[in-house]
Amino acid sequence: MNYRHGFHAGNFADVFKHVTLLRCLDYLKRKDSAFRVIDTHAGDGLFDLKSNAAIKTGEGETGIGKMREAFSPGVEALLAPYRTALAALDQGGRFYPGSPTFVRHGLRRGDRATFNELHPEAYRALKKIVGSDRRVTLQEEDGYIVWNARVPPPERRGLVLVDPPFESRDEFSEITEGLNRMARKWPTGIAMLWYPIKDRAQIRKFEASCCESAFSDLLVLELQVDEIRNNGPLAANGLIIANPPWTLVAEMKILLPALKDRLGQSAWASWRVDWLKGPA
Ligand code: SAM
Repeated sequence: MNYRHGFHAGNFADVFKHVTLLRCLDYLKRKDSAFRVIDTHAGDGLFDLKSNAAIKTGEGETGIGKMREAFSPGVEALLAPYRTALAALDQGGRFYPGSPTFVRHGLRRGDRATFNELHPEAYRALKKIVGSDRRVTLQEEDGYIVWNARVPPPERRGLVLVDPPFESRDEFSEITEGLNRMARKWPTGIAMLWYPIKDRAQIRKFEASCCESAFSDLLVLELQVDEIRNNGPLAANGLIIANPPWTLVAEMKILLPALKDRLGQSAWASWRVDWLKGPA
């Protein structure tokens, strides 16, 4: 386990993932009944954008660093939960929150979250940040085991975020196996699966495997900022979402073009919103 998210915090992929995550939470909050978020690969929780790791890659500069200027009112309305959480958490722009910190900020009194992180240092950092919150359960185990051991949650409403490091093991197969299991155990839960796009043929196979799960509604979202080059830096990423909120397609068709224009680095920049399975 060498991956440390501090090198990548606040990059275009984080912005895309967290903006989408907060749209899903916003939807869950439309009903009074409590929900649970399970974050299988939670990370440190908060990242210093002035740390040596962040400065070394400069990835935050090309992500959150480009988000300061306001977009059109329509886009800003959809970004509001993200902007509000950032304003509360980033301490003047020095820090970038990780997914558990964004989630915790969005929880209401009765909502719950389970955050899991296997790296001991990251776990310690996370515990310091969210450990005192009684709505939060912390775990230090393998994320794929926690995923299906914890569903369905007692609340029976909510979302699982699966955001692994893609460093050595075959994360694509682990994700599809986990998705299959979740479809059997919690067919009404929302699953949000993040992945890097480095090889389009591999992604087509991954999409096809996800479609074999018993979930009837699978949405794919993509944001590409540059040409995808062999062994080059991350240039494109995606989210497959099982049981997406019905509001999400229209929202992402407004948000993604705006993010592409703002975060795109070349003429290769593009976005995608497609049903892999379900409503068309
Ligand atoms: N979700 C976080 C966010 O949005 O801020 C970023 C997560 S980062 C991409 C992946 C995390 O998974 C790293 O913090 C890494 O230490 C952790 N990790 C690696 N292998 C793991 C495993 N088998 N189970 C749980 N966590 C793992």
